[in-house]
Parts: sequence; structure tokens; C-alpha cells
Amino acid sequence: MSVSDKKIPRRQLTVESTNELRKTLRDALIEMLKNSCPCHYPRFRNLINFYHRNYKVGSVFCADTNYLISSACSNEIGFLKLTERVTENVIGDYDADLVYTCSKCSTVYKRIGKQYSISFEFEYVIILYAKYGIDIGADVKNPIPLLQGLFGFKDEDILLCAKDFTLGTAQQLFEYLTERKY
Ligand SMILES: [Zn+2]
Repeated sequence: MSVSDKKIPRRQLTVESTNELRKTLRDALIEMLKNSCPCHYPRFRNLINFYHRNYKVGSVFCADTNYLISSACSNEIGFLKLTERVTENVIGDYDADLVYTCSKCSTVYKRIGKQYSISFEFEYVIILYAKYGIDIGADVKNPIPLLQGLFGFKDEDILLCAKDFTLGTAQQLFEYLTERKY
């Protein structure tokens, strides 16, 4: 293990780690949907918005972000519904950016897909119309405990993003996402 490996918040990607991540994020979304919706949780909004260019560095993606987005948009959870395919002025690298609307509070999101190579694809989400009002979830707190972590082409780029993250357990990630303000 090199010196940089020790500082990168990242766990080896396996079938088991993927299943654990998927289950943890699904459970967290269901918990947030019990009395409200994840839109009211700043930590949810922050994690789905992870994009390396916000750090002014080269390509890095967060596996936890990608799974959180795909879970949030899944029919199984029933939280975000696809309401529009935007094919003009596309931000992502595919033929359309996808617009989703919260089934509870009607907040509107844009899901942007990026592809840097066949094996390097990721997504991030921006808010188009915020309808959620007052936050229920606790404020964003660094370092954010990721279960799977950050991946990219260059360690130096990953390390610049890594300052806001740490490697955590499933329980820590669940509690981080679902913690309430009061
Ligand atoms: Zn909502």
C-alpha cells in the first residue's frame, strides 16, 4: 500500500461492498421518507451534488454518490420520478439530461451523467427548483463518512477532494444521512 492509498477514503469494490452500500443507502432513503422526504436533508442534497469540478480538479467520482442517486431515482423507492428528458443544451455526456421531481414535496432535480471512458462513468444531481422549505436534516458536516469512497484517474486529484471525506461504516453513513436538526 502506497502512502497515498492510506489517505484516500476508499474501500475495495466487491460484490459484498456494493450490496452493503446499496442496502445502507436504501435504508437511509426509506428512513428520510417516513415523515418527510430526503429533499429536506442538507446532507442528502450535498452528497448527490458531488462533482469533481467543484473542487477544480480532474476526474474523480464518489461511488456513494452514484449509488445514492440511482437509489433515489429507482421505482422501488418511489421518491424521485422522471418527469422530463432535456435534449437541448445538455450538460452531461449523453443525449439527454434527466429531470426528476420529488413525489412528496415537488422539488425538481436534474440528473447529469458523465462518461470519461467505458469504465469511468458517474453522475451528479443539481436542484432546479427547491420546494422543500425548512430543513429537517442536520447541516452538512465534514468529514463525510463514505462506505465505498472516491475513485479517479490521479491520486493527487482524489486527495484534493478527500479532505471532505473519510471512510466510515454502514452505520455511520446511515446515521450521517438521516440525522435530524433537533
Ligand atoms: Zn421532496
